[in-house]
Amino acid sequence: TYSTAFATEEPITPQVQVKYTQLLINGKFVDAASGKTFQTLDPRTGDVIANVSEGDAEDINRAVSAARTAFDDGPWPKMPPYERSRILLRFADLIEKNIDELAALETWDNGKPHEQAAKAELPMLVRLFRYYAGWADKIHGLIVPADGPHQVEVLHEPIGVCGQIIPWNFPLLMFAWKVGPALACGNTIVLKTAEQTPLSALYASKLLHEAGLPPGVLNIISGYGPTAGAALASHMDVDKLAFTGSTETGKIVLELASKSNLKPVTLELGGKSPFIVCEDADIDKAVELAHFALFFNQGQCCCAGSRTFVHERVYDEFLEKSKARALRRVVGDPFKKGVEQGPQIDSEQFEKVMRYIKSGVESGATLESGGERFGSKGYYIQPTVFSNVQDGMLIAKDEIFGPVQSILKFKELDEVIKRANSTRYGLAAGVFTKNIDTANTLTRALRAGTVWVNCFDVFDAAIPFGGYKMSGHGREKGIYSLNNYLQVKAVVTPLKNPAW
Ligand code: NAD
Repeated sequence: TYSTAFATEEPITPQVQVKYTQLLINGKFVDAASGKTFQTLDPRTGDVIANVSEGDAEDINRAVSAARTAFDDGPWPKMPPYERSRILLRFADLIEKNIDELAALETWDNGKPHEQAAKAELPMLVRLFRYYAGWADKIHGLIVPADGPHQVEVLHEPIGVCGQIIPWNFPLLMFAWKVGPALACGNTIVLKTAEQTPLSALYASKLLHEAGLPPGVLNIISGYGPTAGAALASHMDVDKLAFTGSTETGKIVLELASKSNLKPVTLELGGKSPFIVCEDADIDKAVELAHFALFFNQGQCCCAGSRTFVHERVYDEFLEKSKARALRRVVGDPFKKGVEQGPQIDSEQFEKVMRYIKSGVESGATLESGGERFGSKGYYIQPTVFSNVQDGMLIAKDEIFGPVQSILKFKELDEVIKRANSTRYGLAAGVFTKNIDTANTLTRALRAGTVWVNCFDVFDAAIPFGGYKMSGHGREKGIYSLNNYLQVKAVVTPLKNPAW
């Protein structure tokens, strides 16, 4: 059972001020054309943090027009790549200097543990911008041999004005995955943040301008999906769209892109990733990593290990230890040191997770721990573990996006491969075994964009990330992200004297 002392505790006051709440268009903070604002809320209490300018179609038009001018008239795409690289490096330095403020804003707006934001996510942001700064001056084309007397050059050019739409679960990291490679390649951007978490991207973008980014290269629109997001996806003057969010919205933006100007689209969508514990696995390590794989970030990860398959011979031990670990999980104010789990992002997600917990109980899974709201205010949920979960249950099929672990039993390797792959998703998978043959069989048989062996959620700027099936199109990070943001142009010139 969990402590009830929390219910009477006052939320800790964040050590940061909200400085930027307007839209960022052409290098300036401006109000929305309509003058409208919306509230961004503190998930710990549901209280208002700030009123933020609410962009819609007209603001998207203004931002796209600024990005178009910045692209067509330069200097950004035509700047020596080393100059672009230096601006990105200066930005990484400024993030490092402002880690405390950025992490505090991220925790306040999102509810994630402050230590996680400050010690894990912000350093990854810095690393990612340094990684893509390193690419900026190493992007080049090819000379290819042709059958006739021709010189054939293949140029790699920036793709143009990029529309980017990001979710609320990792506001700054999603900003980095999108903005880093697009800028390194020389593109200009209109980015729409998630309506739940508009604050940190505005702060980071201000720093990017301080680092020397010319006006109009990066424009940030806060606002809602069906208005601002849809206007961006269907804009005729946007050359490329990158989206991260739910599979349902992914389908909508793909349709909007195809119905407008056929802009190419990359999609990073949901998942229902298997985490497979074989009988020869190090059980204590597997328990800890299965717990981390699911509960990290309040369970709000697209690649969460949300189907924990455990071999029948080790099932009972694994279950007992997983339940004990969930009961030990420290839930509370994310600003408090040592807290592992904060609140869910908002009332909508809170209600959705609670509905899935109810559905788990009703469909006959065994509730081993948790299952209820934690405390009396905000959107906290007890770490919840279900055992005896069957493949057909909703909790085993749908992306819950909350702190709910589903443990399933298996007997044979072939059986677990089939069951693990029997999903519309294919984002990630975890494999726990000491046997190299078992590991090789599983890594090759699983249809997922990432397979972690005896580890989970290992992220690196250089490692590509993306999904099979309905988890998305394309890959982000690493060298793969560059392809999303480049056009390929073949230039053919006759050779007067082919012998030379
Ligand atoms: P969402 O797909 O609704 O939102 C993601 C982004 O898309 C936001 O910026 C949103 O404003 C925008 N958007 C929404 N409707 C749009 C439209 N019609 N046109 C253009 N843009 C639009 O996701 P959500 O509501 O934040 O979360 C719902 C579910 O999505 C979650 O429960 C989870 O399953 C999934 N999710 C996945 C990820 C991921 O990283 N893969 C991240 C967040 C949420």
